[in-house]
Amino acid sequence: MSTSCSRLSRRRFLKTTTTAAVTFPTLCAFGQELRVKIDRIEVFPVRYPTHGFFKFFSGPRGEPGLGVVIVKITASDGTIGWGQSVPTPKWAYESLETATVAIRRYFGPAMIGHDPTDIAGANQIMDRTIKPAFSTGMPITRAAIELGLHDLTGKLMGVSLSQLWNRPRGGPISLSWTINARTLDDVESLVEQGRQRGYRHFNIKVAPDPKFDVALAKKVRALAPNAFLWADANGGYDPQTALEAAPKLADVGVDVLEAPIRPNRISGYQALRRQGALPILMDEGVVSPVELVEFIRLKMIDGVAMKPARCGGLMSNKRQIEIIQDAGLMWLGSGLTDPDISLAASLALYGAYGLDKPAALNGPQFLAADVLAKPLQIEDAVAQIPTGPGLGVDVDQDKVLALMNAGKSKADD
Ligand SMILES: [Mg+2]
Repeated sequence: MSTSCSRLSRRRFLKTTTTAAVTFPTLCAFGQELRVKIDRIEVFPVRYPTHGFFKFFSGPRGEPGLGVVIVKITASDGTIGWGQSVPTPKWAYESLETATVAIRRYFGPAMIGHDPTDIAGANQIMDRTIKPAFSTGMPITRAAIELGLHDLTGKLMGVSLSQLWNRPRGGPISLSWTINARTLDDVESLVEQGRQRGYRHFNIKVAPDPKFDVALAKKVRALAPNAFLWADANGGYDPQTALEAAPKLADVGVDVLEAPIRPNRISGYQALRRQGALPILMDEGVVSPVELVEFIRLKMIDGVAMKPARCGGLMSNKRQIEIIQDAGLMWLGSGLTDPDISLAASLALYGAYGLDKPAALNGPQFLAADVLAKPLQIEDAVAQIPTGPGLGVDVDQDKVLALMNAGKSKADD
């Protein structure tokens, strides 16, 4: 092994981590891997089976389950990274079908030959491949590539995500139980279902009817007096209704109000923040760090519900957490009902940045399948941060193929 190899690899490596856990042989091994390129990207559109009602599930023809695109990135030395995107058209404009095509025809081919450890460069390529509209183009879709590159990079370097970022591993992360009640009579049993699985904190889906929402929140608060109670409207109120609802939700014990109105209602967000009835967080609409900085300057928000799956992956979301922390604002950990692979990435990020509130990561609540050789460690609503290189999960390709075949996805049509 040449001296130049070790110097090069060490310099390169120390840009991202100074952890003592990584040994010199690892550095040299990584130095040799610098010539590794992205060789192949395979795309697996699947539907994860679900249980329970959640308004974002089911496909365009009523197909059950959560549409997910799983991506396998193979490097020229045979190392594999896995990623996942969660395109939910009832939440935003990306679907299982469009995500599959965009990765197969656009993002995937653009990555071939690229250095997999240059994730910033990969993001720039993706910026050019599908240009932005207001913000990053097809952010949910491209998160699969970005997460897969983090997994691949970690495996090539022999480091976990927290080591890659030179952060503590952190965790464990408490999880919040999602209440999506269709009637008030459902509430008690929904809360009880969560309780029985060890959950102590609850997030409720609200809007468009504030009368129902206040009654819902009051009922959940009565059943869970010590819970962190987080209301998410998914942009479902108009500004006037949100201004009327926020103080009433505060009165019955809601702790934070997420996405009360659509993200393009800028003056509405400013009015809600001025009103000060509840901390106002955004979710939908914050995709890149650029608009986050703008929204903070415009005094629209008290914080953000983070989710790498929404933001094109980890680099963007990691930067957003840093921006929020620097601004002294609030951040919560959330997700798009992320299944195993994406969930592992979210847990690693939230652990590394010391999330101290229950996370609305409800994949374990709603999803009835996984593609891992060994499941994530989640017990009594507490998730451990995965250990091991990359995302810290071992994907079982047979399970991926079985899920794809079971779903008989028409995404290739
Ligand atoms: Mg939300």
